[in-house]
Amino acid sequence: MTQRLARICVVGAGLAGLACALAAAGRGLQVQLFDEAEQPCSAPAHIEVVPNMLRGLVALGVGDECVRAGFAYRGIDVIDRHGRHLHELVTEHLAGARYPAALGIRHADLHQVLERAALRRGVALRRGSRVHAVHEREGAAAVELAGGKSAPADLVVLAAGAGSALRAACFPHARAASVLDQAWWYALLPRPVDLDRPLVAFGSAGQRAVLVPVRHDLAGIALTGPMPVQQRLSPAGHLREALASFAPRLRTLSAHFGEGTPVVRRTARSGLLDLPWHHGAVLAVGDGAHAFPPHFGQAAAQAIEDAQVLADLLGAVPDRQTLFEAFQRRRAERVRLVHDITTTAARWDLKPEGDADLSLLMDRLMRTVAQPA
Ligand SMILES: Cc1cc2nc3c(=O)[nH]c(=O)nc-3n(C[C@H](O)[C@H](O)[C@H](O)COP(=O)(O)OP(=O)(O)OC[C@H]3O[C@@H](n4cnc5c(N)ncnc54)[C@H](O)[C@@H]3O)c2cc1C
Repeated sequence: MTQRLARICVVGAGLAGLACALAAAGRGLQVQLFDEAEQPCSAPAHIEVVPNMLRGLVALGVGDECVRAGFAYRGIDVIDRHGRHLHELVTEHLAGARYPAALGIRHADLHQVLERAALRRGVALRRGSRVHAVHEREGAAAVELAGGKSAPADLVVLAAGAGSALRAACFPHARAASVLDQAWWYALLPRPVDLDRPLVAFGSAGQRAVLVPVRHDLAGIALTGPMPVQQRLSPAGHLREALASFAPRLRTLSAHFGEGTPVVRRTARSGLLDLPWHHGAVLAVGDGAHAFPPHFGQAAAQAIEDAQVLADLLGAVPDRQTLFEAFQRRRAERVRLVHDITTTAARWDLKPEGDADLSLLMDRLMRTVAQPA
């Protein structure tokens, strides 16, 4: 049955959901955005707005605000355990001549930029609203909320993340993303005065840190390493202890991480939702469709690309089924390639061997994402 697209419900106000809501409202559609959390994201973390992600944000109309809120850079330095410069990773200019190659930005600032833009375009954002189910009767879909309320929708964009119960309910045969034996610790700290672009540094035993400027006065650190067998230390204690095995430039930063410092730890996940990414009126996007380890910034970048493609298609296709088919044609193969590269990178971190290394993987990735989504 053909379904005209006028009313869109987006479930989840993470990066994928905010960007998809913005994309749909930009096409003049009526958009409701639901998130079960009462408050917006305030993770003490940064996002690397890598070149293909910045291109997507520019296409969504928020490039200038992101540049103002973040810290523009070009190129990434890589150093070894002793502080020796190994090489420079190239960041291509993909977002157009007016924009930098890439940015560091605070996680919360990027959410705020997207949320403000979505509200300006008329998105109705409902926080503290958990969607329990999506029902369909005679071709009409509705999202079901607590208290027996519901909202009708011609299209439901499911952006509820990788671990959501709603994903499992909407796609009952989907396998859960696998949990990799790797964790990431994130924190914010004052920007070292000489840090004007990201620094990737290797520590001992599969540990790697990325230090990223996010504002003139602030930097983000992301440390990755094997999942500890026993959680004997707090996240801040782990970060402090792990940095001791890095080059002096990183080691001195450990003084910033007292027991009260907010540090967030995430487990790396990997897994693609089996095709198709749609079922009934529901289209899965973001981590719920493709969970990647955050290597090369592609977990966030691919969420923004989903929204960019949705914006293109909502302006071009006549009905839901055509949209689903076109979305899959544009997204599935590209996302599979990015998934394979980032998951190989995560495994390589844990066991560096064979002929893959991070700069080769980064080259392959850049060739893949340099093409428009
Ligand atoms: C601390 C942190 C650091 C990160 N760093 C990086 C990085 O450096 N590089 C990178 O590429 N990626 C990074 N990521 C991952 C990146 O942010 C995600 O890949 C990207 O945001 C896409 O996620 P999402 O929007 O699909 O899902 P999520 O961000 O998980 O958002 C899902 C949202 O759905 C809501 N929700 C879930 N179920 C329901 C329901 N039933 N009803 C209503 N709402 C619901 C949740 O409350 C949540 O707000 C990081 C994530 C975090 C948390």
